[in-house]
Amino acid sequence: MKIGVLALQGDFAEHIATLKRLGVETREVRLPENLTGLDGLIIPGGESTTIGKLATDFNLMEPLRQFGKAHTVWGTCAGAIFLSKDVSRPQPLLGIMDIKVERNAFGRQTDSFESDLDIHELKQATNSSHPYHAFFIRAPIIESVSGSAKILATLPDGRIVAAQQGHLLATSFHPELTGDTRFHEYFLSLAS
Ligand code: GLN
Repeated sequence: MKIGVLALQGDFAEHIATLKRLGVETREVRLPENLTGLDGLIIPGGESTTIGKLATDFNLMEPLRQFGKAHTVWGTCAGAIFLSKDVSRPQPLLGIMDIKVERNAFGRQTDSFESDLDIHELKQATNSSHPYHAFFIRAPIIESVSGSAKILATLPDGRIVAAQQGHLLATSFHPELTGDTRFHEYFLSLAS
């Protein structure tokens, strides 16, 4: 199995390190031809406007949309924003997931926080019972899911922080920054 990580901006190196720990072959994706032969793709956290602008400049928008039709794609934080259909402001989006997102929903960088999440699918896929400890860094909220998208995780107050639509995944938080590899394992189970 070979997994690509979009390496235009943001913390792609941390995703690659996590995948390597799991024994997975990886490739940094910067150009459309880098998508050839991949089994899945991760779009990292960072700044969604910058990722969108660079993806436009590197002619990646349409190849990424096509890739997402037939492959597993997971967006974390800015990556989740980039996958969404609607962020209530103009910026380049792939628009392949039926989720509406509010950027910076928790405030500024200093309002970043951690929270334990109870994620049924994750526990089932990894045969574990403990909650998932998630890091939220100037994170977005998934305001709503529609179509065939479903909610994977919410905060204790009910706000949505992870969603799945078939082979597409979106998380508001950063599994690549924790020592817990279960979310990457879940992604790999969808990609295989
Ligand atoms: N605030 C960033 C954005 O709106 C996302 C932050 C992150 O990826 N940690 O794009």
